[in-house]
Amino acid sequence: MAPIQKECDYLVIGGGSGGLASARRASGMYGAKTITIESQRLGGTCVNVGCVPKKITWNAATIAETIHEAKSYGFTVEQTKPFDWTTFKHKRDAYIKRLNGIYESNLHKDKVEYIHGRAHFLSPKSVEVKLDDGTLQNINAKKILIAVGGHPSIPDVPGAELGIDSDGFFELERQPKRVAIVGAGYIAVEMAGMFHHLGTETHLFIRQDKFLRSFDPMIQDKVLEEYERQGLHVHKRSSQQSVTDLGNGWKKLAYTDAGGKGELEIDCLLWAIGRAPEVEDLGLDKTGVKLDKKGHVPVDEYQNTNVDNIYALGDVCDRGFELTPVAIAAGRRLSDRLFGGQSSAKLEYDDIPSVVFAHPEVGTIGLTEPAAREKFGDENVKCYNTTFMDLYFTMMDADGKSPTNYKLVCVGKEEKVVGLHIMGLGSSEILQGFGVAIKMGATKKDFDRCVAIHPTSAEELVTLK
Ligand SMILES: Cc1cc2nc3c(=O)[nH]c(=O)nc-3n(C[C@H](O)[C@H](O)[C@H](O)COP(=O)(O)OP(=O)(O)OC[C@H]3O[C@@H](n4cnc5c(N)ncnc54)[C@H](O)[C@@H]3O)c2cc1C
Repeated sequence: MAPIQKECDYLVIGGGSGGLASARRASGMYGAKTITIESQRLGGTCVNVGCVPKKITWNAATIAETIHEAKSYGFTVEQTKPFDWTTFKHKRDAYIKRLNGIYESNLHKDKVEYIHGRAHFLSPKSVEVKLDDGTLQNINAKKILIAVGGHPSIPDVPGAELGIDSDGFFELERQPKRVAIVGAGYIAVEMAGMFHHLGTETHLFIRQDKFLRSFDPMIQDKVLEEYERQGLHVHKRSSQQSVTDLGNGWKKLAYTDAGGKGELEIDCLLWAIGRAPEVEDLGLDKTGVKLDKKGHVPVDEYQNTNVDNIYALGDVCDRGFELTPVAIAAGRRLSDRLFGGQSSAKLEYDDIPSVVFAHPEVGTIGLTEPAAREKFGDENVKCYNTTFMDLYFTMMDADGKSPTNYKLVCVGKEEKVVGLHIMGLGSSEILQGFGVAIKMGATKKDFDRCVAIHPTSAEELVTLK
C-alpha cells in the first residue's frame, strides 16, 4: 500500500522543549498548518529524562540534607526506615505521565496535528514517518524544523554496556548502595550530589583535576572543595579500563586515577560523559543540510541551516547552551519570524543564566573571569568576591557548615557587570532576578543603589566591596 500523503505549512520533527514551543506558536498564534512528529514521549528530554524528574529528585536529596541538619535546630527526626526510592520513583513517574498528557492536550488546543512515529527526510521538502504500527506516512511541508535534541554518549570501554546513562538514572527501581559516576559536566555533578545526599556511597570519576570546567574557576574550586568536604569520593585524573559483571547487579570497575590503579565494586555505574545530537537516522544526506565535526546542525543567528526552509534549534545545534528555556525561546522566536511577520525576531544567545542543581546550588550568567580578561584586557576587568556563612548554618557544628561564594565580574570605568557567579543556598532562585538586571546592562553602581534585603544571602550582592 502506498504511504499516506499529507501537506502542511510547518513540519516540526521532535516533540521536545524547542519543537513543541515552536509548533504551538506557529499554529496557535499564527494559524499555520502545523504537524509535530515525536517518536518517544511528548515533552522530550526535559520532561521525561532531564530537568523535571531531575529537580524532583534534587528536592528529595535536599529534604534528606535538611533532615540531617534539623538536629542542629533542636529537632529530633528519627528515620526509622531508609529512603523509599521505589515509591518515590513511581510517584515521580506518575507525575511525568500526567505531564505527557498535558503536553498532548496543549497541542490539541493549539490545533497542532501530532503524529507519533520516527521521522526521516526523503528530500528537503518531504519527510517519511514510520508509525508505531509499522506503516509509513509521507509529509510534504513548506518549512521544516529539526528539533530532535540529543542522547547520552557511552564510551568505548570494555564492558561499558554494564553501565547506565542519565536516561537510565530515571529508570532505577532501587537505590544503589555504591555508585560510580563518570563525567565532569553539570549532569554528572548533579547526579553525584543527589546520590550522595540520598545515602548512596558515591564515587565521581573526572578526567582532570576539576569538574564543571566551563564555569568560573571560583565555582570549579568551591564546589569541588564542598563535595570533598561532604564525603563524596572524587577520583581525579582518572580513566576507566574495563567493567566486569560480578552477578547480582554488581560489577567491578577497573580504573586509574591520581593515586594509581584501582578497582571498585559497585551496583551502579553511570556514564555522564556528554551528549550527542540525535541525527543518525534522520536522513539529512537527502537534504544537503551540513553537520559539524561533532554531528551538530550548524545554524545562523536566525536558526537557519544551510538549506532554505529547513531550520534547527535546541540541543541538535551547538550554540553553547543546551538548556530547555533556550530551546523554547529559540522556537518561539523562529515562529514569530516565519509566521508572525516579525522579520528580525531571533534569540540573543548572550547573558543566558544557567544553574547547576549541585549541593549547594550554583548560578552563573555572562562571562567567567578568565573570559572577561581575555575579551577586555586585565586592566579593564575588576572582580568583586565574597565568601561568607549563610545565617542558616550558624546553628550547625563546624563540620556541617557550607560556605557561600559570590563573584561579580565588571568591566570598564563604569564597571558594567558582565558576569555573575554564585554558589550557595537558593542560588538558582536568586539568579533569575539578577539575570534581568544584567541583561538590562546593570553596572556595579546599579547593584549598590538597590537597598539590601536583610537578612538574606543575596543582600551580599548589593553590598560588595
Ligand atoms: C539529565 C538532564 C538534566 C537536565 N537538566 C536541565 C535543567 O535543569 N535545566 C535546563 O534548562 N535544561 C536541562 N537539561 C537540558 C534540556 O533537557 C535540553 O536542553 C532540552 O530538552 C533540549 O530541547 P530540544 O527541544 O532541543 O530537545 P529534546 O527535548 O531532547 O527533544 C527532542 C525530541 O525529538 C525526538 N526525536 C528525535 N529524533 C526524532 C525523529 N527522527 N523522529 C521523531 N522524533 C524524534 C526525541 O524523542 C525527543 O523527544 C537537562 C538534560 C539532561 C539530560
